[in-house]
Parts: sequence; C-alpha cells; structure tokens
Amino acid sequence: MTLRTVYVNGEYVPENEARVSIFDRGFLMADGVYEVTSVLGGKLIDFDGHAVRLQRSLDALDMANPISKEDLLEVHRELVRVNEVDEGMIYLQITRGAPGDRDFAFPDPDTTEPTIVLFTQKKPGLADSPAAKKGIKVISIEDIRWGRRDIKTVQLLYPSMGKMMAKKAGADDAWMIEDGFVTEGTSNNAYIVKGNKIITRALSNDILHGITRASVLRFAREAQMEVEERNFTIDEAKDADEAFITSASTFVMPVVEIDGVALGDGVPGRVAQRLREIYLEESLKKAI
Ligand code: PLP
Repeated sequence: MTLRTVYVNGEYVPENEARVSIFDRGFLMADGVYEVTSVLGGKLIDFDGHAVRLQRSLDALDMANPISKEDLLEVHRELVRVNEVDEGMIYLQITRGAPGDRDFAFPDPDTTEPTIVLFTQKKPGLADSPAAKKGIKVISIEDIRWGRRDIKTVQLLYPSMGKMMAKKAGADDAWMIEDGFVTEGTSNNAYIVKGNKIITRALSNDILHGITRASVLRFAREAQMEVEERNFTIDEAKDADEAFITSASTFVMPVVEIDGVALGDGVPGRVAQRLREIYLEESLKKAI
C-alpha cells in the first residue's frame, strides 16, 4: 500500500508519521472547523468559495487562521501533485490547537497556535458516478443539531448517526426536519423540484451555506431556471416531481425516494440531471 503524503502544521509528512497532540481541542472538544474541496482532472473545484467559507467559520469562532489563502492553495495543489490525485477530494481541518491542559475556556491565542491538517482521498469515478445515474434514497429524521449550522465545525456526531439510521433503513442518506420543515441532508443541501421550479431552504444559521449550492443556484438562474428559496415540508417533498442534493463530494445527486415513497417515476429527474451536467461542465472550466 502506498502511503499518502499529508500536511500537518507546515510540514509534508507520510501519513503514518503525522502527529497531533492528545490535548488538541479538536480532539477533546470538537473545537475545530473544516472544508472539503473536490478534485476533478487533478484540479480544484470551487477552491475560492471554500477558502472564503473557511475564513467565515474561523471568524465566527474567534479562531486564528494559521495560513494565507495563497499558501493554502499551494498546499492543496502540492498534495494533489505528490499524491497523484486525479479525482477525489482534499480534507482540511483547523482546530484551536493544543494548550496542554483540558479547559473549557479558550486558550490564549498568543501562546497556543492553531492546528492545521490536510489530506487527500482518491475517489475514482467521482464525476461519472453510478449513484448519480440511479439516484439515491433518503429517509427523514429529526434535526437535533446545534443552532449554528452555518459554521462548518467538526462536531459531526449527529449527522454521522443520521447516516447510520439511513443505512439501517436501507437508504443512502437522511434529510433532517425541524419545526416541520426540511433543513438539509446529513452532509449536503436539499432541494425539490415542482414543475420547473427549484425549491430549496433559504440561507440562515439553520443550514450550512453550501459552496456547491451557491454555484448550482447561480448556474440554474443563468440557464433561466426558476429558483425559489423557501422552507418546504417533507410531505411537499414526497409529492414533488423531483428532488436532489448538492455537496462538494456529490456535486448534484438526484434523490429518487423519500421515506419509501418514490418520486415521479422513481428515476433521476430531468432538472437534477441537467443541473449535474451544467455544474460539472462549468466548474471544470473554472477549476484551478
Ligand atoms: N450541509 C451540510 C450539513 C454539509 O455538511 C455539507 C457539506 O459537507 C453541505 C451542506 C454542502 O456544502 P458544500 O456544497 O460546500 O460541500
């Protein structure tokens, strides 16, 4: 097995030599943020959007950014190069560092440096995904996450449990419901299509401001498709013509079943398929 080269606090090291302290607040308190950037044809998709959201997450948590945007791009590119990633993703995590003792209070940023880690994951067939041809099945579950879902933190236990609930039910993912309305998927934004209208929840603290969401909605509007940003219920979703999700690692992925109810003909919808094509085509043009 070839060992990946990963990036830890300024150094490129083989994955089996990478070390983070047991006192790291990411490990002890989930006091950290992350980003996932996809790689297609060896190039980075939507890098700029991910870098901007990373800064937003850090600012929201009053956490220092240990790396400039230019250097971050360089690290991404170097990891893609040395690990020979053609299709896949780059995971980035920044935590508040390791003060040496466990304490609820944040450590002094002058004496405790943030921890930064990046690694690659190869995913051959990411763009030409069999799941995208078949569509995925989702179940609905209650959204019991915290109230700042717009910050991309590493506290992913409930989304992870949601994914397991879906698997147990023979589905692929879960859509979360709060006060009767769908918030988002465990690791993606959720959409329905009625007629030719694309409906998705508006941005707020209740959902992650997906980078793929922003691009997809822009491309949809440019293609004269109608977009409505509003809440929708799971019953409205089950009654929709189509549904889909978006994320950096799935792009646009059709949903063909919700809680056992087939949508439309039970196959990927026309709008979702078209949006996937447009997204892949346009994002590849701008990939760096
Ligand atoms: N919503 C949640 C909860 C997520 O975890 C993610 C991605 O990880 C998304 C939405 C999609 O965001 P993006 O398109 O930036 O990957």
